[in-house]
Amino acid sequence: MSQQPLMNTYNRLSVSFERGEGSWLYDTNGNKYLDALSGIAVCGLGHAHPAVTQAISEQAGKLVHTSNLYSIPLQEQLGARLTELSGLDKVFFANSGAEANEAAIKIARKFGHAKGVENPAIIVMEGAFHGRTMATLSATGNRAAQAGFEPLVAGFIRAPFNDVEAVKSIAANNKNVVAIFVEPIQGESGIQIPDANYLADLRDICDEQDWLLMLDEVQTGNGRTGRYFAYQHTVVVPDVVTTAKGLGNGFPIGACIAKGRAAETFAPGSHGSTFGGTPLACAAALAVTETIEKENLCARAEALGQHLLEGFKDQLEGMDYIKEIRGKGLMLAIELTEAGTELAVLAKVKGILLNVTGGGRVIRLLPPLTMTDTEADLLINTLTKLIKIYAADERSKPRK
Ligand SMILES: *Cc1c(COP(=O)(O)O)cnc(C)c1O
Repeated sequence: MSQQPLMNTYNRLSVSFERGEGSWLYDTNGNKYLDALSGIAVCGLGHAHPAVTQAISEQAGKLVHTSNLYSIPLQEQLGARLTELSGLDKVFFANSGAEANEAAIKIARKFGHAKGVENPAIIVMEGAFHGRTMATLSATGNRAAQAGFEPLVAGFIRAPFNDVEAVKSIAANNKNVVAIFVEPIQGESGIQIPDANYLADLRDICDEQDWLLMLDEVQTGNGRTGRYFAYQHTVVVPDVVTTAKGLGNGFPIGACIAKGRAAETFAPGSHGSTFGGTPLACAAALAVTETIEKENLCARAEALGQHLLEGFKDQLEGMDYIKEIRGKGLMLAIELTEAGTELAVLAKVKGILLNVTGGGRVIRLLPPLTMTDTEADLLINTLTKLIKIYAADERSKPRK
């Protein structure tokens, strides 16, 4: 091709797939790959799950889109399901994680204005990832992602992740904070898991200060960590939760779920989306939530995650190229002592799909919740062998 028709936004591996089934993807040359990434925590039920395929095909034959000018019964059904699953009150539907987060940010600002705060600010964390739109990019704690897109959106105050004292000191010095927005586990910056009390401590500060506690569960939600939402490992009830990735198993949909005053912030005209919550998107997501419940996939994610974590620790822990192996449910990280970005390419050659994030030092595994024990063992064996060979090769190279 003389001209590359796509904008240069991704470093893509040289492989394309034509078919998927469960934990496997098949490329255009007939090779198969064990998918330990699930399209970045999206295809939690694996590829081409029959329940989702059926829901999408049936609904596509009936009705794809009407408009939010009319009532949409499937949106109401999915809304009821998500409020039940979250313990919160009301849902706004969007089409992506960034859009769900935009809704949360707008809720926080409107909540602030309603109580007389003229320049409401939201506390966000170092290392956070909230999306690529201007507001969510501004909330994101990654200077490299923001560079070149200034001016950023104002109204965010940054705190170190997993540092309650830093948030307390912001509280003592800023009268215009209205919310904390935080991932229960940071995904993009390399599966960073905070202390067990972190969310509860943030909840206490929010209660004392009359701030909203808003959780970005775009990646951690929909069963991935072993509970439907990651905050459900704790006693904390947030005011706002956003989710997207795993909600449609690949069909684009995002949701902003809120409780109490936060759920009552918007009025007609305050926010909206042409596509948000189409009958088709809601049918797909309803099939996903039903399947997670019917196949008991939250418990499965917890057990499978434990098995993978132990497997990798058994094989790799203590090796001098390995810094730490950590995980919660099916968010797993093998952190290296130095950058190992090539491992994604080498793993692909061995038929394993994974991703290296966190500055190139964190092998991130986000396998489907439906992965079998045999597939999990294949993943452990293939990947640990590969890492050992890679580490030995790296060690034998002359130091620069
Ligand atoms: C992926 C992700 C987003 C952005 O979602 P998009 O659908 O790509 O807009 C936001 N927050 C978190 C925590 C994510 O992992």
